[in-house]
Amino acid sequence: MNKKIMAINSGSSSLKFQLFQMPEEELLVKGLFERIGLEEEMIFSYSINDMKVKTVVKGKTHEAAIDFLLQFLLEKKIMGSLQELSGVGHRVAHGGEKFKHSSLIDMTALQQIKDLAKLAPLHNPVNAIGIEAFQKDLPDCPQIAVFDTSFHQTMAPKNYVYPLPYRFYEEDSIRRYGFHGTSHQFVATEAAKELGKPLESLKIISCHLGNGASICGVKEGKSVITSMGFTPLAGLMMGTRCGDIDPSIIPFLQYEKNLSASEVEVILNNESGFKGVTGFSSDTRDIMSQAEIGNEKAQLALDMFTSRVKQTIGAYAAELGGVDVLIFTAGIGENSAEIREMICENLAFLGIQIDQEENQKNNKKISSSESAVQVLVVETNEELMIARDTFNLITI
Ligand code: ADP
Repeated sequence: MNKKIMAINSGSSSLKFQLFQMPEEELLVKGLFERIGLEEEMIFSYSINDMKVKTVVKGKTHEAAIDFLLQFLLEKKIMGSLQELSGVGHRVAHGGEKFKHSSLIDMTALQQIKDLAKLAPLHNPVNAIGIEAFQKDLPDCPQIAVFDTSFHQTMAPKNYVYPLPYRFYEEDSIRRYGFHGTSHQFVATEAAKELGKPLESLKIISCHLGNGASICGVKEGKSVITSMGFTPLAGLMMGTRCGDIDPSIIPFLQYEKNLSASEVEVILNNESGFKGVTGFSSDTRDIMSQAEIGNEKAQLALDMFTSRVKQTIGAYAAELGGVDVLIFTAGIGENSAEIREMICENLAFLGIQIDQEENQKNNKKISSSESAVQVLVVETNEELMIARDTFNLITI
């Protein structure tokens, strides 16, 4: 039966939404509220078909944004009544070890999401605010939580336990969780469809390269290893995040520079990565144009980034016992032919060879005919994955 499903992604000062007709996966409207809580008004942009509109809306809370959104859907006649909404899927940052799958949100689940704020203090509380606001306006509409971490819950202990005293895992839940799970799962599924092969039959390395970046090794349709860790700070170098560094640098900075833990935390999260190395931007487009005109730090940052991605691909090929499919996704992965080329250079020994022309065109398949590994560019769509999970959970 046809159902309208809303996918929601609430951030600290933003709320993104996409409304789908399922199971056709037809996008009816998508939009974004920004600057929530910063002033008396927020900015609301939306697009229906190809028409884009940006306007200002009164109100300064997530609740106000959601009240406005529901009225907007009625006024624009996207829905005849709110009863037409069959389910709301919420992106939730952290599901800890509790949530191994997407889940219907009852009182217990909501409390568990709030309790997991210890592991994701910036995200889970605001995700819970979004859930509660929808529950208030639509008490009879099922709410589903789709976690950034749950796809990685299939990792074996050898890949998620840190070599620290084991009690920190037992007492404080310190372990690798991994993030971007919704995206890795979505692109792996789409890649298998594109190749006409069962997902379970493929060894896949998925590179989600955006402002945040992570890599995931997928075998038999399950996440085996991923580069983000206890938090999304681990793994690759990113727009403003440092990724993996020698952990001793942290106390060294505290002692030598007389910095507090929270000051170091800000440096590692917001002032490092591309921004930290180049000193001028976290955006690879700016960095590439500067590198072209001879900026050495810009070139160094690009070399560091692509080298780390390459090393991780090599490591994950070893972990998976080979690789059939290499996926590039997210802002950099989907758009930058130059960066994909730098990453794939000298990977022929792994069977990875790209076709320059196909790569330049951002084609879906960019591997050459000699390549043993299928190299694909797959557009990620976390909102659609949320809508799929929501639809599946409400129809069983
Ligand atoms: P987020 O993690 O914020 O969702 P995105 O997946 O949207 O990030 O990726 C954003 C990044 O993608 C930008 O910082 C930019 O560096 C990069 N990007 C987008 N388009 C291009 C392009 N054509 N060439 C190189 N980099 C690009």
